[in-house]
Amino acid sequence: MKLIFERSVPGRRTFQMPKSSFPKKELPKAFARTEQPRLPEMSEVAIGRHYTQLAKQAFGVNNGFYPLGSCTMKYNPRVNEAVAALPGFARMHPLQPRDTAVGCHEVLDTARKLLCEITGMDDMTFQPAAGAHGEYVGLLLMKKYHEQRGDLKRTRVLVPDSAHGTNPASAAMVGFTVTHIPSDEEGCVDLTALKAALDDTVAGLMLTNPNTVGIFDKNILEITRLVHEAGGLNYYDGANLNAIMGWVRPGDMGFDVIHLNLHKTFSTPHGGGGPGAGPVGCKNLLKDFLPHSHMGDERLEHSVGQVRAFYGNFLVVARALTYILTLGKEGLPQASGMAVLNANYLMHQIKDDYPLAYDRICMHEFVLTLEKIKKETGVSALDVAKCLLDYGMHPPTMYFPLIVHEALMVEPTETENRETLDDAAKAFKAIKKQIQDDPESLHLCPITTPISRPDEVTAARNPIVRYAFEN
Ligand SMILES: *Cc1c(COP(=O)(O)O)cnc(C)c1O
Repeated sequence: MKLIFERSVPGRRTFQMPKSSFPKKELPKAFARTEQPRLPEMSEVAIGRHYTQLAKQAFGVNNGFYPLGSCTMKYNPRVNEAVAALPGFARMHPLQPRDTAVGCHEVLDTARKLLCEITGMDDMTFQPAAGAHGEYVGLLLMKKYHEQRGDLKRTRVLVPDSAHGTNPASAAMVGFTVTHIPSDEEGCVDLTALKAALDDTVAGLMLTNPNTVGIFDKNILEITRLVHEAGGLNYYDGANLNAIMGWVRPGDMGFDVIHLNLHKTFSTPHGGGGPGAGPVGCKNLLKDFLPHSHMGDERLEHSVGQVRAFYGNFLVVARALTYILTLGKEGLPQASGMAVLNANYLMHQIKDDYPLAYDRICMHEFVLTLEKIKKETGVSALDVAKCLLDYGMHPPTMYFPLIVHEALMVEPTETENRETLDDAAKAFKAIKKQIQDDPESLHLCPITTPISRPDEVTAARNPIVRYAFEN
């Protein structure tokens, strides 16, 4: 496909500015460009076609089933977009005086109140821009808590080996050292290892429950109690809230601080780098350390400071609030109940063809291991993932969590109906048959997509994000 710069023809335009009735003012030389910007020049219809063609090459939630484990690619109701586009929200300026933005503040206050109720927390900041940013902020709160108490030797953070990669990375960024806690054969935290790791140098534990293999850790109350008894705090990675929303609250499980991924559980479009929000909630003992909300607010004495401009990604909060209010108190637990039911329904249909990493009732997602299939046939988790694209579905998450070899992690989400799940099961089964009949053919998949197998390493390590002009 041609790049937009390759389609450019000098002189083509989409829009003519009306003649201005104001006298022309030149910018001061110091601020003016010396050359024209090299922008693509195109007609409106050509631009429309270019982007439509680009969109066709990508796979989104509107294209088909998108069971990307750990990412909660649920359908985002259109009403969220309609609300976020209201001029009273979309056209606000963050520096507007507070009394001209009363409605926006009400959105933030109501969202804070409801999300605190859903999570069992006492207060919340909306500043962090995404989940990993939220982890960073939550850990800053933990650090500040220990510092304020003069407990300076607490420099270690415990992270289970099943954790999302962002957890140890965030802990390291805040200056903690990371101690990995192994999982037991059921995929849960190994209590003996946890006890052995706990001492007065532990600042806290980072955990998600259900964990990253989709299993609810039944020992959670004992885990959080042990950490508290050792003087540490419990951090909840809320990216998996979609499994428990409305059923059980991290605050009641013994967690002191959490982040949520509004762009996952609370239905903002994500992937491709769109704006998200990773609000951080905490119990009263950490409340004084929360970031102050924006310029102009009084600087709170013990705050960890400002972590992002203004109020964070406000429109993501507006979407989340719309989602919460449209589902209501009955709808939210129904949604997570359906997410768990869908995952178990699909898991049961395919587990005889693809072995489960942990053969138990799962929560919102489950993990398959293709280790044996790979050994016997040479077909890898990657091959199967690519082949699923030919069946019109997005591949599950591959090679994560790291503790499972040849992992495929499937998260159907609650918005998929039974027919879609049955079709997905059929696709998995058809691929299993293809593996038995002609394993070599799997290495060529996908064959129906515009590009078959891009060089993902080069694309990640040396992305070309600027057009190289010839002169
Ligand atoms: C997605 C995810 C994160 C990171 O969230 P981002 O918004 O991508 O930064 C952290 N932990 C878990 C378990 C996740 O699934």
